[in-house]
Amino acid sequence: MDNTVTPIDEEKEKQDILKAYRRLLSAAKRNEAKGDLRLVRKAFDVALDAHKDMRRKSGEPYIYHPIAVAEIVTSEIGLGAKSIICALLHDTVEDTDLTIEDMRRMFGDKVANIIDGLTKLNVVLDMQEDKSMQAENFRKMLLTMSSDIRVILIKLADRLHNMRTMGAMRRDKQLKIASETIYIYAPLAHRLGLYAIKTELEDLSFKYIEPELYTEITSKLKETERQRNRFINKFSLPIITDLENAGLDFDIKSRTKSVYSIARKMKQQGVPFEEVYDLFAIRVILNSEMKNEKADTWKAYSLVTERYVPSPARFRDWVSQPKSNGYESLHTTVMSNEGKWVEVQIRTKRMDEIAEKGLAAHWKYKDAQGGAQTQESSLDGWLARIRELLDSPDPNAIDFIDDFKLNLFAEEIFVFTPKGEVRTLPVEATALDFAFDIHSAVGSRCIGTKVNGKLFPLSHILKSGDQVEVLTSSKQKPKEDWLAFVVTAKAKSYIKQALKEEARATAAEGKELLDRKLKQWKVNIDNETVNRICKKFRLQTSQELFTKVVRKTIDFKDIREFLDDEKSANRWYNVIRKKMTPGDDAKKAAEKTPAPKKGDTIVIGDASQKVDYVLAKCCSPIPGDDIFGFVTINEGIKIHRVNCPNAINIQSNYAYRVVPANWANSEEHTAFTTNLLIKGIDDVGLVNSITKVISKDLNVNMQRISFESHEGMFEGHIRVFVEGVQHLNNLIGNLRKVEGIKTIVREDMEVKS
Ligand code: MN
Repeated sequence: MDNTVTPIDEEKEKQDILKAYRRLLSAAKRNEAKGDLRLVRKAFDVALDAHKDMRRKSGEPYIYHPIAVAEIVTSEIGLGAKSIICALLHDTVEDTDLTIEDMRRMFGDKVANIIDGLTKLNVVLDMQEDKSMQAENFRKMLLTMSSDIRVILIKLADRLHNMRTMGAMRRDKQLKIASETIYIYAPLAHRLGLYAIKTELEDLSFKYIEPELYTEITSKLKETERQRNRFINKFSLPIITDLENAGLDFDIKSRTKSVYSIARKMKQQGVPFEEVYDLFAIRVILNSEMKNEKADTWKAYSLVTERYVPSPARFRDWVSQPKSNGYESLHTTVMSNEGKWVEVQIRTKRMDEIAEKGLAAHWKYKDAQGGAQTQESSLDGWLARIRELLDSPDPNAIDFIDDFKLNLFAEEIFVFTPKGEVRTLPVEATALDFAFDIHSAVGSRCIGTKVNGKLFPLSHILKSGDQVEVLTSSKQKPKEDWLAFVVTAKAKSYIKQALKEEARATAAEGKELLDRKLKQWKVNIDNETVNRICKKFRLQTSQELFTKVVRKTIDFKDIREFLDDEKSANRWYNVIRKKMTPGDDAKKAAEKTPAPKKGDTIVIGDASQKVDYVLAKCCSPIPGDDIFGFVTINEGIKIHRVNCPNAINIQSNYAYRVVPANWANSEEHTAFTTNLLIKGIDDVGLVNSITKVISKDLNVNMQRISFESHEGMFEGHIRVFVEGVQHLNNLIGNLRKVEGIKTIVREDMEVKS
């Protein structure tokens, strides 16, 4: 036999594993992990033995994964011995012969319960059969979180390590995991205040989803590093002198924006890397005693803004009123001597650690000082709100996750009840959101509000500092149009639920009315009949029909007429059909008729069979784009770009309906349509120059063009026919040379997938 496989040096492997374990142990000690570290050795031995025959996709022994997760848990999240033990054992119950009872016997109740939570979470997160599964699982995950938050923290560490080591996986798996990470895990890390982990999760996901843009940004960041550092030093020097003269003890650092957020900026504003102005922020970290924290941060703030002029619009004070995830900091944006805006963040060492490590650091300070009550209670408040939301009866799981995500990202305002109690709401929250925040019963009966003593409608948008009183009436009930202005998940899901219940009641009433009528007419009451009536009146569901019956927007007379017509038509049809039943030959001929032909420009799946597809309108893919196929219910397979705005949603909620797709090397020169958004300074003759470049210079056909101009700026939407990415890039390159044009981006349409 040909034996080319390198034999594994077992002795060396054992030594390496032990080395990794010792690194974990010293990390735990360095981070002053609380609890019994002796039990950690036992957990390591148990995990090592349980996973002894398993290897990861990369070929290395499996045990490296739990060790790495445990290391993240202690050094990057700052958790104690119990969590380290749980992290070491997190995959044993799911993947090996060990049971929860074994865990309980060896490590006690707490550890067993956390591992149980982690195992269940994995099981629910892995199932993919149902379309709403992911969303439902997310809900379960949050439910679990409210029992012991360590389950979520360890799960985040697990996901982070998987993301760091995903290189050996298949591309479709990478895409699915990366999308899910952006969709669920990064916002969750953000909400828990784990900024460093959130940022890394986003960057890693982005690296797999859009590798080219990722590489472009990272290499440009590297190229411009020296120039940036020179600027930062020059900018910081006077501040350092001022702070030192004032006798403050501090460190000053600069923070480069993450690759992911740079990419987001580029896309949102349609600008190249070179034009993203706030690539970094300066951070002043004060070594203050707890009691001097506020005074010191404000002192530093006044020194910085005496040196450089601040922009009042971009001042944020999270020291007086911390965010509900615990974040505390002063942010200001000031004008440098070079005429560039620079963001300066001012905070103490304690605040900085909480900002980076979130909860765990927070607990550490709370234990040490016995203080910091406000943040603790606002975090508890957040968890309580989640629990309340999860308890609301049967919200549609996907709606729920979308509504919930809105709240994860939102910035916050603080408003007061008449008694002076503070409530945290997302920016743009209305008086009605406030009412629902107090209680769902208050929200659903709300008829108006008094804001700072003045009467306002329900849709009034609140500002930080407002004092709000809710006016209710027992006759009020939730209205459809409320959905147009509420922003909180709690209000949205409650209103939807109430409307659904009302619709259900109305429909039941309508069904009864219709049933009675049909009985009178001696027509069979079955689903078939109801479906035919729906079809006739172009209604999607029987519920719609029943509702229309109650609202009298459909007349019984018309239904009667239809049923009568149908009856007589049926009689004729039966007579004719008997005469014309086709023979077998005709059937065979029909089967042989080829399906309508489409160009072979895209290969779907393994290419062994021909599948019909359409190009998605939202992102208009063209040859050369990175693409995937999505199996739709009514329109066959739709081809989307991997960076389509709908892709994240598809990949994380409907991954089982995603099929790989690639462009074939077709010789045919087919034209594909795609959309461009052009912005610039309005000028006579500009439209002319643009159309000239498009049609004359490059021989590109335009399908549609529209320009709008507003206060000297213009915006143009163009739909062009191109052969592929190369062709399109040439076009964009030539258009960039037209004077007056500032930005050109491919434009995605707002079409739901
Ligand atoms: Mn794992």
